[in-house]
Amino acid sequence: MTNALENRADELRERLHKVQQRITDATAKAGLAEEPTLVVVSKFFPASDVRILHELGMTEFGENKDQEAAAKAEELAEADLHWHFIGQLQSNKAKNVVKYATMVHSVDRASLVKALDKAMAREIEAAEEAGKPARADLDVLIQVDFGEEFSSEQKTAESRSGAQRGGVVPQEISDLARQISEAQHLRLRGLMTVAPLGAEPGKVFDRLREELTTLSETYPDATIMSAGMSHDLEAAVASGATHLRIGSDVLGSRPAVR
Ligand SMILES: *Cc1c(COP(=O)(O)O)cnc(C)c1O
Repeated sequence: MTNALENRADELRERLHKVQQRITDATAKAGLAEEPTLVVVSKFFPASDVRILHELGMTEFGENKDQEAAAKAEELAEADLHWHFIGQLQSNKAKNVVKYATMVHSVDRASLVKALDKAMAREIEAAEEAGKPARADLDVLIQVDFGEEFSSEQKTAESRSGAQRGGVVPQEISDLARQISEAQHLRLRGLMTVAPLGAEPGKVFDRLREELTTLSETYPDATIMSAGMSHDLEAAVASGATHLRIGSDVLGSRPAVR
């Protein structure tokens, strides 16, 4: 290894250990037996960082842009990694995303359900034709937006359809869940949220937990609660998150635009 890489490896090891310690402490404080899964959000950072983190034992990585994710997945194809797609996803990118993602956290509309299902059908067919092992169904989460309940932000038609922050309002979860359950190659695994700006994260995450409890009565496979970022992971653990999505506290700060 070059010196620069060694220094980066030292830095990442230290940062990762700090985050892991926070998760351990929060889990103990909540009296929970099991720690949630840490999904390291590697957006903006290079494949070399992902490689270092993989060597430190990490296997779950999150990305929010197809082009960037696809490039990293390809560069690291030989490593046993799981890619989580966590960003706003255009339906026309579904066919790319299913090639590398094992889970899509950000499903928020029927047209995307259709596009992902169709893309999966194509993947499965291609694998069959190539004599490759059958590929498992795609795990998906419904992204929920609690903005209307928790913040003073007024959600305009524009911001709802825009790429800013996705998600369905809680009242729309059951309809979208039914559409996912009717898809051939998608498996509804649970719910995801990003706490709205200005809201108290713990209250938002408690609401997500409540919605997940209701959902899992109809869909027993829906057990995943994806919540918690660098600044609010403790609140997420306390509310029973099963998957934390942590970027900057592991990898460092990104330019503000991302
Ligand atoms: C970037 C991002 C994260 C990670 O955020 P950090 O504050 O860097 O930990 C988590 N979830 C989503 C949806 C993101 O886009």
